Amino acid sequence: MKQEILVKVEHMNKRFGSTVALKDVSIEVCSGRVLGLIGENGSGKSTVTSIIAGMQNADSGTMTYHDKEWKPGSMLYSLEHGIGMIVQETGTVPGITVAENIFLGETKFFKSFGEKHKWGPVKRKLLNQKAQEALDAIGASHIRAEQMTANLDLQERKLIEIARIMNKHPEVLVVDETTTALSQKGREIIYNIMEQMKKENKAVVFISHDLEEIMEKCDALTVLRDGNIIVTFDKSEFDEDKIKSSMIGRQLEGDYYRSDYDGSCEDEVVLEMKDVNLTGKLIDFNLQLHKGEILGIGGLSHCGMHTLGKVMFGNKKPESGEIRIKGKKLKNEADAMKHMVGYVAKDRDTESLCLNASIKDNIAVGGLDQFTTGGFLIFPWNEKKYVQKQVETLSIKCAGINQYVSALSGGNKQKVVFGKWIGRGSDVLILDCPTRGVDIGVKQAMYQLMYQMKKEGKSIVIISEELTELIGMSDRLMIMKDGKIMHEFPRSESLSEADAIQYMI
Ligand code: ADP
Ligand code: MG
Repeated sequence: MKQEILVKVEHMNKRFGSTVALKDVSIEVCSGRVLGLIGENGSGKSTVTSIIAGMQNADSGTMTYHDKEWKPGSMLYSLEHGIGMIVQETGTVPGITVAENIFLGETKFFKSFGEKHKWGPVKRKLLNQKAQEALDAIGASHIRAEQMTANLDLQERKLIEIARIMNKHPEVLVVDETTTALSQKGREIIYNIMEQMKKENKAVVFISHDLEEIMEKCDALTVLRDGNIIVTFDKSEFDEDKIKSSMIGRQLEGDYYRSDYDGSCEDEVVLEMKDVNLTGKLIDFNLQLHKGEILGIGGLSHCGMHTLGKVMFGNKKPESGEIRIKGKKLKNEADAMKHMVGYVAKDRDTESLCLNASIKDNIAVGGLDQFTTGGFLIFPWNEKKYVQKQVETLSIKCAGINQYVSALSGGNKQKVVFGKWIGRGSDVLILDCPTRGVDIGVKQAMYQLMYQMKKEGKSIVIISEELTELIGMSDRLMIMKDGKIMHEFPRSESLSEADAIQYMI
């Protein structure tokens, strides 16, 4: 099959206020190939792809599609003309059914009367049937078209979006950090779609922070840094170290994970779970977290570990059993916060952050008691200083602390969540997939912060689907399956991923 350039971007520039998001960016997207985009958080990956897909406009530069000028006015226009994008943030509406999301803005075509079915009530049966076909076509039959979207989890909502876009059979598909939100099964769906599109001589632009994944799935890889294209590697030139150093513009210095194998901690128990039960999620669950301990919890995504994090923080109530924090029985989330327990949720956009508020307001919520008197008066000056310090410590890339969190890139949002809890001086931190969708530079900073906290006598629970980071960071690693702990490993230099995986499946 003849490979041709489908989309050509030349000399594109884009600013957001004082932030330069893209600087003279040129990219070619070819048929029959998967082009990878990689770069640290905030390097411009979503910006350039969302411009191609009609979500926003560039300030200058040109684009062509099939050698004709390409100026999509909207994402819908773009999709109707062959270019679709699975966006990084959630793209579904919660208050409607799955079918209505799949045919968002198009339910008018399912009406009962008129030549083009333009009036009368919506033919729900037909709508559901067509939506189910779209779900079945991508291999997501377990989601039912008539379900309410709000009842589905992040992964399922992502799959609805994918079904909606694939139902239009795009010729060019952008996949923006979608796989980070998906379990292995969801990932397989994306990989199959990419494979199929290649066979049909279509094109894919694939954005991911998972270096291993991107090296395996892409035919070429373009590295972005601070809005500049740094280099494009062809598959034959893929080399992990070369890619990493071109991403961050320097060699990674210092330790990535902690370098010691001393898994010791103090005897004092700061958090304890006794015979906790929650139907189908946790079964007679017992656990003790010690002062100065980093406890890793791993397993497949439905093993119960994400529920465990919520239960530990008082966000979900177990049916029986108890949770004690520093010896006192935990009643609810407010109680946990009072005892200086912090929690970073996996689904950070909906659970950990207020997107329509500023960075300042989000970070300040965690530290309120540090600049209030008697819980009432907020001293604006203290607040500003406090937030500024967190922004600097975590090098959050933003235009200023008054910028809305919704405008930040994924990894920078995650840093805001971190800043909120670390700044508060939490004694116990429960982190659910803290580095999901975060680039290696930020990951390293987070790992070093966790280790620092341990040394200060704080306790950390890391729940993660990435075994390498669990092995790299934990004093003790617990593997869960079907709501139970299957095995416990002490920290050891010889512990391998294969050792842990056998208890997961
Ligand atoms: P990436 O996808 O590589 O993580 P983005 O393309 O999202 O990065 O962001 C590039 C830069 O532009 C970042 O500094 C980001 O904060 C900024 N940015 C992106 N979208 C907006 C927006 N809507 N408003 C203001 N700044 C934005
Ligand atoms: Mg992005």
